[in-house]
Amino acid sequence: MSATPVSEPQSKSVPQSKKVQYVFFFGGGKAEGNGKMKEDLGGKGAGLAEMTNAGLPVPPGFTIQTEACREYMRTQKTSDAVNKETMAALEKLEKLQSQKLGTGDNPLLVSVRSGAKFSMPGMMDTILNLGLNDESVKALAKKGNNDRFAYDSYRRLIQMFGSVVLEIPKHAFEEVFDGKKHKRGVKLDTELTAADLQEVIAEYKQVVKKHTGKDFPQVPIEQLTMSRDAVFRSWNNDRAKVYRRINNISDDLGTAVNVQAMVFGNLGETSGTGVGFTRNPANGDKEFYGEFLMNAQGEDVVAGIRTPIHISELHKLMPDVYDQLRDITTRLENHYRDMQDFEFTIQEGRLYMLQTRNGKRTGRAAVRVAIDMVNEKLIKPEEAIFRVEANQLYDFLVPKLDESVEGIEVIATGLPASPGAAVGQIVFTANDAVTFAGTSAQKKPVILVRAETTPEDIHGMEVAAGILTSRGGMTSHAAVVTRGMGKCCIVGAGDIQVDEKKKEMRVGSLTLREGDWISIDGTTGRVIKDKLNTVAASPDDPDLKTIMGWAEPFRTMGVRANADIPRDAIQARAFGAEGIGLCRTEHMFFAEDRIAHMRAMIMARTVDQRKAALDKLLPMQRADFEGVFRAMDGFPVTIRLLDPPLHEFLPRREELMVEITRLELTDAKSPKLKELHEVLRRVEELHELNPMLGFRGCRLGISYPEISEMQCRAIFEAAANVAKEGVKVIPEIMIPLVGMVKEMANQGAIVRRVAAQVFKEKGAEVKYLVGTMIELPRACTVADEIAVEAEFFSFGTNDLTQTAYGFSRDDISKFLPSYIERGILKSDPFATLDQEGVGQLMHMAVDKGRKGRANVKLGICGEHGGDPASVEFCHKIGLNYVSCSPFRVLTARLAAAQAAASDKLKVEGGRTK
Ligand code: PEP
Ligand code: MG
Repeated sequence: MSATPVSEPQSKSVPQSKKVQYVFFFGGGKAEGNGKMKEDLGGKGAGLAEMTNAGLPVPPGFTIQTEACREYMRTQKTSDAVNKETMAALEKLEKLQSQKLGTGDNPLLVSVRSGAKFSMPGMMDTILNLGLNDESVKALAKKGNNDRFAYDSYRRLIQMFGSVVLEIPKHAFEEVFDGKKHKRGVKLDTELTAADLQEVIAEYKQVVKKHTGKDFPQVPIEQLTMSRDAVFRSWNNDRAKVYRRINNISDDLGTAVNVQAMVFGNLGETSGTGVGFTRNPANGDKEFYGEFLMNAQGEDVVAGIRTPIHISELHKLMPDVYDQLRDITTRLENHYRDMQDFEFTIQEGRLYMLQTRNGKRTGRAAVRVAIDMVNEKLIKPEEAIFRVEANQLYDFLVPKLDESVEGIEVIATGLPASPGAAVGQIVFTANDAVTFAGTSAQKKPVILVRAETTPEDIHGMEVAAGILTSRGGMTSHAAVVTRGMGKCCIVGAGDIQVDEKKKEMRVGSLTLREGDWISIDGTTGRVIKDKLNTVAASPDDPDLKTIMGWAEPFRTMGVRANADIPRDAIQARAFGAEGIGLCRTEHMFFAEDRIAHMRAMIMARTVDQRKAALDKLLPMQRADFEGVFRAMDGFPVTIRLLDPPLHEFLPRREELMVEITRLELTDAKSPKLKELHEVLRRVEELHELNPMLGFRGCRLGISYPEISEMQCRAIFEAAANVAKEGVKVIPEIMIPLVGMVKEMANQGAIVRRVAAQVFKEKGAEVKYLVGTMIELPRACTVADEIAVEAEFFSFGTNDLTQTAYGFSRDDISKFLPSYIERGILKSDPFATLDQEGVGQLMHMAVDKGRKGRANVKLGICGEHGGDPASVEFCHKIGLNYVSCSPFRVLTARLAAAQAAASDKLKVEGGRTK
């Protein structure tokens, strides 16, 4: 995905000199557009044109193209040209139908529907039955000899027009309607008579007058143009904007508007309407899948007022129509060579197709359908690999919520930080998580709910089934750590207030307390009240293996994992990681038995004191490295020397101050007080504000060389030990936060010196590389110099994004929503690489790096290494590998294969929307 300069819309620019065709007609077996014109006609418009050209029964109409919407967004009005072409197309439609819009004995009625390039189901608006007014309703009633149907259609028009076009709150109409049902003592809408509905209409008109000061427009053309413009405006309603943000759809595209002759599914017992898929969208099974309602309009099927019937029942009710529908949808699937999602209406026994598009499906279904279609010879394996979005592979690796039950209550939504599902009882502190979850066989699932997590919460995170935070972004501590653990996590659920003291969380008027059940969905960010069941993960699925088997031969970039401990390394190998691209050594120090030694090391005032503490850490680190090397037998392991500022290992300043005050008041003589004061002094010395750019990275190893020495000793001793066992060890020692070549040279010298010492002591040698993270803009600009000292570069795009923008990854969630809403940022730059800015810095570093050292090895280990669009970018700039959390390895493998396959096969990138 590429970001866009704010001032210039990314949309297709229309050359000024060439006359733009704004309106495209379809009907009478011919269409001016076709299925390829999704950009202009939107998915729906292009589909209608294509179906018309294929001779399918499609009600005629016309599509007003997306450029008209973009113009409307720029100027807040529709141009004369658009109006003129709309009128001309309407005339053509009237002629074809031998009817006039809202006029005469046989009035033409139309629907006005949105339809953007990428489907945005239910996000924008639709108005049906346009053309009805006080006169034409009578004609409609007479024509169909059905008063009830005519007045029901009219009241629906006023209701839809009122809320969508005139922006009257929906409840204003609902109150009238429900009031009438109540008064008549009926439950179903269908039980109201024509006379009742006439009264409803009269009251609806009063609602319109009251809210707008004007009468409901009686002139059909006025209804049409007002509706068209309202659909343009609905492109920018809140839910459409949010949907686009989540799905990475550009705000600049605009929607097309489809005006189409109405067909009625509510004309009696031989009429009906429905929706369906040519295959099962949940699991991909090849079965005709759909629902319908007899004597109903489209909105009734989705509104959930009446329970739709399974499509197989249609076979019993109207066998001919059913066969025709099956025949048409099979033809459509063969034509588009993809699973279709369709809408149809039956008017008095006659079938009409209203829409067809490639159906949305789960990851599991996407894989199943792709493989089946290859077996059916509809597509080739090299096409099949593009039928699965790389991100969808999560579905195979993580459990998911079983949503087949009724009454699911979503109470909040946050950022989907780490996918999967978790169900458990709420706890508010890491210690409570441990106590509550217990260690016995009777372990209870808990969800750890925090405002945000810190490294000190790690033990609670370890035992929790899932993590939910009210603050933080996609690279916050909770997000990064849980992704590494493959544990479900939602961060930044800003509507939730976490009260750790009272042990409760509040969302609006709802309060949940410790022990209450919640279910969280880390794939979508939804927090759900109560306990749902989960469906287990299946990483060994044979279908998954088949699709990966087709994709992998294309891949040219390596895929490694970011893994810090042996357990994660083993997991990463199982998902196909070809090495470790980032082992953050500091994560080894947070375990309960180690943090004390780490703190002693930090509290040390002399080199000797520091060395004594480091000596305690050495064997622990060595053992971890041995485990990691064993897991990665034959694959490289990039180990980064200590990076984070030391205060991250100490208790929080505020907590210390509270504890000190408490002791001073209750137990002033406690020996603990002195100790706490000392810790506080050190915490204050080390305290930093975000983004943390201070005393961290290689600056630590340069100021305290004994830290780097200990770490290198642990690495090389471990390497020599396991090499003796016959394991093939390929260590790559990585220096963090280098901005100057001399920093690299300084640390590189320590690495090489310690390596030589250890190899001598052990009487064994291991081949290794010394390189650096590239995570500062200055490092990019002097990458040629740095490459002379560094044998490899690994782009730390988390820090590079922080430093290029001057944003803090931990604080961005405070202003990211307003930046996205105002179009300043297209997406979270910590989740998807900013190709124009940060990407250009990377480009520069790649070019310069290769000048400094022709064979410099190039990789990425920031979070972007697991994001499909960023992986594609890394492929384009020629990186040797990407590295990401273990649970994103499969996604990165598919994304890298798709990028290489698009290059090779010269097809458009595979991330279908
Ligand atoms: C980075 O900055 O991209 C990186 C991988 O390091 P960390 O996230 O540990 O700072
Ligand atoms: Mg970094």
